Amino acid sequence: MQAEKFREKLLAWHAGNDRPLPWKGEKNPYFIWLSEIILQQTRVEQGLPYFERFKENYPTVHDLAAAPADGVMKLWEGLGYYSRARNLHATAKNIAENMNGIFPATHAEILKLKGVGPYTAAAIASFAYDLPHAVVDGNVYRVLSRTFGIATPIDTTPGKKEFAALAEECLDKTQPGVYNQAIMDFGATHCTPKSPNCQSCPMQEDCTALQENKVEILPVKSKKLTKRERFFYYFVIKSGDRVLVRRRGAGDIWQGLYEFPLLESDRAIENKSAIEGSEILQDLIAPEDYAVLRISKSYKRVLTHQKISIRFWEIEVEKFKSGYEDKGFRAVSRAELAGLAFPRTIDLYLSDKSLTLELF
Ligand code: SF4
Repeated sequence: MQAEKFREKLLAWHAGNDRPLPWKGEKNPYFIWLSEIILQQTRVEQGLPYFERFKENYPTVHDLAAAPADGVMKLWEGLGYYSRARNLHATAKNIAENMNGIFPATHAEILKLKGVGPYTAAAIASFAYDLPHAVVDGNVYRVLSRTFGIATPIDTTPGKKEFAALAEECLDKTQPGVYNQAIMDFGATHCTPKSPNCQSCPMQEDCTALQENKVEILPVKSKKLTKRERFFYYFVIKSGDRVLVRRRGAGDIWQGLYEFPLLESDRAIENKSAIEGSEILQDLIAPEDYAVLRISKSYKRVLTHQKISIRFWEIEVEKFKSGYEDKGFRAVSRAELAGLAFPRTIDLYLSDKSLTLELF
């Protein structure tokens, strides 16, 4: 496949298959940046309502900069990879305070923003300012490796260089924004990872992977990802209409989100008395003053590098042991609970009506 032919076929396909998305044709770099950060590691269908909500709540970068951190986290709740929300907020403040609220207009300056990597910088630069920078992400690796038949592993330095150079060669420098959108859409909707639509593909005749029967094996990755297993036991300790929660600290997943008192293990704990005797629980309740009301089913959560199994122990006490504030806990009411941002699994658990009704 020649770069020029690829470009022509891709643009022709895009002309007939344009996905109508709210950020398409958008020239406001603030909205483009918002949509790109939301879409990092998130499917379009999932990200769409979040984009609309952010736009509505924070119509300018100044509004986002002035928002309370908890408000931003609450709006982000359920989207995962929460460092994106923290970076979004920090960057909005940086632009509002140090750049007079004016979004940077060169690729190099955009790349300096917190939370913005080469892919996002190329997307913003091309969509907002028509600057000739090619996007390279999972979609692009897949489309290029298949059409051009490149088996260099995409997670190696030589692979990254080779694909970046090819992406630049294929880019339509007269309309980089349209081209970038086209290759992203083609990868997301047509040349998909599991069932690409080769039967009615405009690249058919020239696609090396199809011609050489390599669609299934391209793109190539050198390493298999091993996932770390974690077991979380959350104690939903209730006294009257209050439960104990704490904000998660830095250095781990879900930083800045709230959670219940947690016992963590790297293996499943079968022995219930080991859980009841755990230090964290003993710190918060008196041995003679508690009743275990229910132990939830196991909720599974799979992240990029880890697999987490989560159970909730619902416990009733007359009163919390004194000193819980010193350990970072707060006793909050049901109404307050609704205003806090939790990891998705805790939200799922809380929205499970059969449990919530009994709990509160
Ligand atoms: S023929 Fe199949 S593998 Fe090749 S570009 Fe089209 S959809 Fe992708």
